[in-house]
Amino acid sequence: VKFVYDFTEGNKDLKDLLGGKGANLAEMTNLGLPVPPGFTITTEACKVYLDSGAEPAALRDEVSAHLDALEQRMGKKLGQADNPLLVSVRSGAKFSMPGMMDTVLNIGLSDKSVKGLAEQAGDERFAWDSYRRLIQMFGRTVLGVDGDLFEDALEAAKTSKKVTVDTELEAADLKKLVTKFKKIVKTEAGRDFPQDPREQMDLAIHAVFDSWNTDRAKLYRRQERIPGDLGTAVNVCSMVFGNLGPDSGTGVAFTRDPASGHQGVYGDYLQNAQGEDVVAGIRNTVPLAELESIDKKSYDQLMQIMETLENHYKDLCDIEFTIERGQLWMLQTRVGKRTAGAAFRIATQLVDQGLIDEAEALQRVNGAQLAQLMFPRFDEEAKVAQVGRGIAASPGAAVGKAVFDSYTAVKWSRSGEKVILVRRETNPDDLDGMIAAEGILTSRGGKTSHAAVVARGMGKTCVCGAEELEVDTKRRRMTVPGGHVVEEGDLISIDGSSGKVYLGEVPVVPSPVVEYFEGRMHAGAQDADELVEAVHRIMAFADRKRRLRVRANADNAEDAMRARRFGAQGIGLCRTEHMFLGDRRELVERLILADTEAEREESLKGLLPLQKQDFVELFSAMDGLPVTIRLLDPPLHEFLPDITELSVRVALAESRQEPHENELRLLQAVHRLHEQNPMLGLRGVRLGLVIPGLFTMQVRAIAEAAAERKAAKGDPRAEIMIPLVGTVQELEIVREEADQVVAEVEAATGTSLKLSIGTMIELPRAALTAGQIAEAAEFFSFGTNDLTQTVWGFSRDDVEASFFTAYLEKGIFGVSPFETIDKDGVGSLVKLAAEAGRATRPDLKLGVCGEHGGDPESVHFFHEVGLDYVSCSPFRIPVARLEAGRAAS
Ligand code: ADP
Ligand code: MG
Ligand code: MG
Repeated sequence: VKFVYDFTEGNKDLKDLLGGKGANLAEMTNLGLPVPPGFTITTEACKVYLDSGAEPAALRDEVSAHLDALEQRMGKKLGQADNPLLVSVRSGAKFSMPGMMDTVLNIGLSDKSVKGLAEQAGDERFAWDSYRRLIQMFGRTVLGVDGDLFEDALEAAKTSKKVTVDTELEAADLKKLVTKFKKIVKTEAGRDFPQDPREQMDLAIHAVFDSWNTDRAKLYRRQERIPGDLGTAVNVCSMVFGNLGPDSGTGVAFTRDPASGHQGVYGDYLQNAQGEDVVAGIRNTVPLAELESIDKKSYDQLMQIMETLENHYKDLCDIEFTIERGQLWMLQTRVGKRTAGAAFRIATQLVDQGLIDEAEALQRVNGAQLAQLMFPRFDEEAKVAQVGRGIAASPGAAVGKAVFDSYTAVKWSRSGEKVILVRRETNPDDLDGMIAAEGILTSRGGKTSHAAVVARGMGKTCVCGAEELEVDTKRRRMTVPGGHVVEEGDLISIDGSSGKVYLGEVPVVPSPVVEYFEGRMHAGAQDADELVEAVHRIMAFADRKRRLRVRANADNAEDAMRARRFGAQGIGLCRTEHMFLGDRRELVERLILADTEAEREESLKGLLPLQKQDFVELFSAMDGLPVTIRLLDPPLHEFLPDITELSVRVALAESRQEPHENELRLLQAVHRLHEQNPMLGLRGVRLGLVIPGLFTMQVRAIAEAAAERKAAKGDPRAEIMIPLVGTVQELEIVREEADQVVAEVEAATGTSLKLSIGTMIELPRAALTAGQIAEAAEFFSFGTNDLTQTVWGFSRDDVEASFFTAYLEKGIFGVSPFETIDKDGVGSLVKLAAEAGRATRPDLKLGVCGEHGGDPESVHFFHEVGLDYVSCSPFRIPVARLEAGRAAS
């Protein structure tokens, strides 16, 4: 294998092998842009080094050969005393890990060659400045010397000279500083600063390899989900010098504004400086536009190059450059990071410029970014003190009173207070408190901590790992930097999108994107800002491309109407159990506990008109679009009084010798119906088969509601869905009864209703026998929540808080299977059932309801297996539309 590539040999698609920096240096070289010559050592060499502790045997010779070639080309040798070639040794992994790994500049300088450099450049100050930088960087990153020691010595030199900036130090001062720096190295590292240039280079290469495994690099990778075994490439690049006086300098730039996408001149420039000076804030930089008056020729060339790069990469690029005595050099470029809002704007701008087409524009944005744009935000104008910053673990803006334990969180929220639960870290005992809170703030833990994982699962705002905050749960308070103490009950605000923590109440403003979806702001109208305009256009691209239809999970007219505004093409799941709560609960209770036919009839009679009215409203909200209604599904106990509470009541009444016959009867019934494992108990279709009249009442309500809407010239399109079917026989029995009821209603009203009847596929057995089930079903809707639960044997209500955190940390899953569909397990059952169902009934309609319907990765999977639609909560609909469009393009 080949371990070393010259910049002329690589290209931008070799990021796996050459890292992002190396691949793009090669790409720029091949574009004919001015890149200082050099070569790249591959990530493969790094992997061998990290696995075996030594470089691959062939590497040394290969590096020597490439170094020879470089020396020939430059007409000087590395570290040569009278005319030294200097190089930088730069890390560069496949994914950029800003500031995580090491780079050393000016390799090749020594006590001898520093003089040669001074002579060649005719500038002694410059040579000694470069040398002290080398010892400083090399000492810190290669030899592990505390960087502050060098900084302090530099400060001391400036103070004793009574100057403030490093450029005011003269050659003699820098010479003294070099002596000082070498002493620091000797004492701290226990060895002399190496004078042999090749030794410098080899040690630096190894240091870059090693930097892949520093704690901060590992932590960063875990948080960003970058695999740990990729390794980094190493770039050896001949030096160009921005610290050769006022006609030299170094800078960074973007080809367009990464916040707004606007084209223009964005960047910073620093005269007479090298490398990191620009970002380190050592001296004040000037806006890039000022380069025009400093060095017009280089400026014009730079503008030309930025245009070339944009046209070539067809995207926003960021760049690093250096000017050496009026000569411009390109040192880095890459497709630049951007905010979610800018991603949408830039994608549409590039379409307008003719650089990319609509399909490509869809690849430049994603559902997660859209979701981020839909959260309410804190009003940026508000003047409120920021007191800390943690990890943006789960987006949103939350305001509430600080509480330091879950018990208080629950108690206060019950009495109507908004609270923020503040903990050092959370554990499964905090679940109640997390549910009760508006948001969660912790001072420890990262993106995969318990707090973060659970909060994301619940869609709750969370900032975690805000380490500057001292949380004292015993004394119910936290101390913020500067010493201010936040007591229990003090208002705080947390921003889960930025990780920022504020004292007091920051006003929250709704997202303009949601305002647009809600129809309160029209794209194209005068007040529509560019972001809304861009989202509007991208959504139109997605809608044109996608094959999947998108429906909503909604059980009332209000949600249905919102879903429709958000682009829903029907309701994929209306949960009827939500219609049995509140006042109606008692009717259901009586139905379940009925001893006689007459009692049962009476409760059913009470429920029928209420149910019917629900459906009338839903059908009119969704007029002309399909509405899938699921018959009653949940375990019975959800409708019965709590067993413990009831026992206490009975015992109390007994001891007080009060009458309690009714309670006793109820208690006995509750005992009789009590189940150890209700999620696998009497629920779904089993209820319909066991409680006479329940399902037929629901079907009648649906049919009568549809007939009423028809009579009112509406266009109701009801689909009746039977939950938790495991075998076709269950479905056949329910179906027969339902068909009969529908026929009765049709006869009584003289209308033809065309109701369709189908089932959920949410048990493994249903998936495995889908071919048979399709005989009795006109549609399937995959209930992927229950299917995941039953395929894995996980209780969804328990596992997220108990062992999922450990599973995520151990890497057993990258993401919860309740969040993103487990393609290999649950997904292959979906695929199998879809195929078997269609083999029986080619026009079988296939959809999915459940959380996965709004999850980007899952949507792509459902597209691939050929489903007809996904159904998700109203707020996820735009995300599903976008991802369905992306999947199809
Ligand atoms: P990072 O990945 O942290 O950006 P780089 O390898 O890009 O690290 O190096 C940081 C800076 O050092 C560059 O932006 C550039 O200014 C400077 N630098 C790197 N190599 C050279 C070189 N060969 N000549 C001049 N400056 C260099
Ligand atoms: Mg860089
Ligand atoms: Mg279910």
